[in-house]
Amino acid sequence: MPWPKIEPKTFSSIRELNGICQRTMEEHYELYKGYCGKVNEIQTRLDGVDRASANQIFSDLRALRVDLSFAIGGVKNHDIYFAHLGGKGGAPTARLTDMIKRDFPSYDAWLADFKASGLAARGWVWLAFDHDFSTLTTVVGDAQNTFPLWNATPILALDVYEHAYWIDYGRARAKYIEAFFNNLDWAVVDQNLERALAMHAVHK
Ligand code: FE
Repeated sequence: MPWPKIEPKTFSSIRELNGICQRTMEEHYELYKGYCGKVNEIQTRLDGVDRASANQIFSDLRALRVDLSFAIGGVKNHDIYFAHLGGKGGAPTARLTDMIKRDFPSYDAWLADFKASGLAARGWVWLAFDHDFSTLTTVVGDAQNTFPLWNATPILALDVYEHAYWIDYGRARAKYIEAFFNNLDWAVVDQNLERALAMHAVHK
């Protein structure tokens, strides 16, 4: 069966948010549409690529596969990001709070580490559920396709690429990270957790 054509989703968060302006969100959404389009383009190119010339140093097949992982990462990461923005911040649901307390030294310690990880990463920070170790964990990424863990489901995705905040904050990324949390819809994060736990139940 052929790979399904990717269509950009629509998100209610593409508007002026609290501390993140409409232009930032609209420009960011255009980047997301670009990732969707490139997934489709690369998949089409893969149909006709010359596999006889496959080579680890350089080959068309290699280039397409590597950049496909970047483009698909760009789609999946932003699907999470845009869907859980547009909220009012505050505290996570009781279930998620309990799980964070279970899997990290404390809620405050998790939050401090997550925000610091946002300064340490070059692209993304995720809160993910690791299905092999049955635990929440923090993951950093330097690009759309680095460094995801096998068998872990991201439930919270903080984009720290400059395009996410430069218009609003310039180099002051820490201020953007505060704004991100002020606009987070924890109910959506909890839905992501629900999905991850359902996947975990199947995985066990
Ligand atoms: Fe982005």
